[in-house]
Amino acid sequence: MAARLPELGRSGDEVLSELREMKGLDADWRHGRVPLYVFKANDEVDRVGREAFVTYFAENALGSKRAFLSLGRMEREVVEMGLGLFGAPEDAQGFMTTGGTESIIQAVRACRNHARAMRGAPRHRGNIVVPVTAHLAFDKAADLMDLEVRRTPVGQDFRADPEALAQASDDDTIMWVGSAPCFPFGVVDPIAGLAEQAKARGIWLHVDACVGGYLAPFVKMNGGDVPDFDFAIPGVSSLSADLHKFGFTPKPASTVFYRSMDLAAHHGFALDGWPSGPFVTSTIVGTRPGGGVAGAWATLQLLGVTGYRAIARDLMAMVGAYRAGVSRIEGLHVLGDPHLSIVAVGARDVDVFRVAEVLAAKGWVPGLVREPMAIHRMMSMLHAPSLDAYLADLAAAVAEVRGEADRPAGVQASY
Ligand SMILES: *Cc1c(COP(=O)(O)O)cnc(C)c1O
Repeated sequence: MAARLPELGRSGDEVLSELREMKGLDADWRHGRVPLYVFKANDEVDRVGREAFVTYFAENALGSKRAFLSLGRMEREVVEMGLGLFGAPEDAQGFMTTGGTESIIQAVRACRNHARAMRGAPRHRGNIVVPVTAHLAFDKAADLMDLEVRRTPVGQDFRADPEALAQASDDDTIMWVGSAPCFPFGVVDPIAGLAEQAKARGIWLHVDACVGGYLAPFVKMNGGDVPDFDFAIPGVSSLSADLHKFGFTPKPASTVFYRSMDLAAHHGFALDGWPSGPFVTSTIVGTRPGGGVAGAWATLQLLGVTGYRAIARDLMAMVGAYRAGVSRIEGLHVLGDPHLSIVAVGARDVDVFRVAEVLAAKGWVPGLVREPMAIHRMMSMLHAPSLDAYLADLAAAVAEVRGEADRPAGVQASY
């Protein structure tokens, strides 16, 4: 039955109470039952981000140049902080967007336009070559721009193989991608190796640091062993990093950066030819919530380097405890050697999707990887209080599945 616009409006209280009732049926992310989608640092970060967001609840970041100059200033400062964090050269430029997907679409578009300007229109469709573990946002971008995506195999360690990308490339290849880290396995690709070969071939290298960008620098400052991935590596042309993931800012907020003004010049839209005069934007979307910009600025100011380092320390300690807990469960193992807070867990002698199914029955929304089969978690401090309970349920689920006769799992991997 289709919902219809009610003939008579209802009272605000009644509407809000039905809304809360519906929300009550959702998965319980607050207690760590959901393996992705929501990120948390601590209560104060939540409070300040929320307050900043609602302070700009009505403002539209589309108007940041003409009406809401404060949003324009915050946006510039957020971008400048990012440029500093990612070792960007003097000439680099960046932009705020509404999310990783938009940052990636924008980077692919800038690369496509740059390639057209440099090479003239390519004979064939241009193509972009990515490790199989790269986010599907690249395929979305390619679909929009009629580009081809070529996915290449990764090594035993689940990291990109520069040789495989080289082999899949030809004269129409305009972009290579490396992830820092990739979503499925949480490992950072060998960006330096990719950059060296991409540079030699004149191919644009995009680093997708959507999930790790605002965490990896602080883990490194704390002495963590994370490979280099940013503009300090010559040959990195552009980089995407999501604030609304491990920057712990309210959604929507992401950033995209270019090594030089030259490359960034292909990013924006400047249109005319309609009655209302020139229309200049640096995002794909038009209207954007001012709250996303204000929330990001406020969170970065609140935490600073010391705040992010403290969170990174706590988070990595929790991830360490999780990995140790997994290794104590007979038959389970961590896939590869994840660099940050995404961990995929495979199994030797039990059907790990059946294990996930049993966990789901216990109220844990399972994250799954299909190849090789694994249980996937992207962990933030939301997962800390329930870590022991989760590990206990995981161990019990493995024992239960091991004890049962062959029974196919009904769950499937899905994002
Ligand atoms: C989340 C993610 C994206 C896409 O970001 P959205 O904000 O969901 O659009 C891209 N790449 C990686 C590696 C991600 O984890």
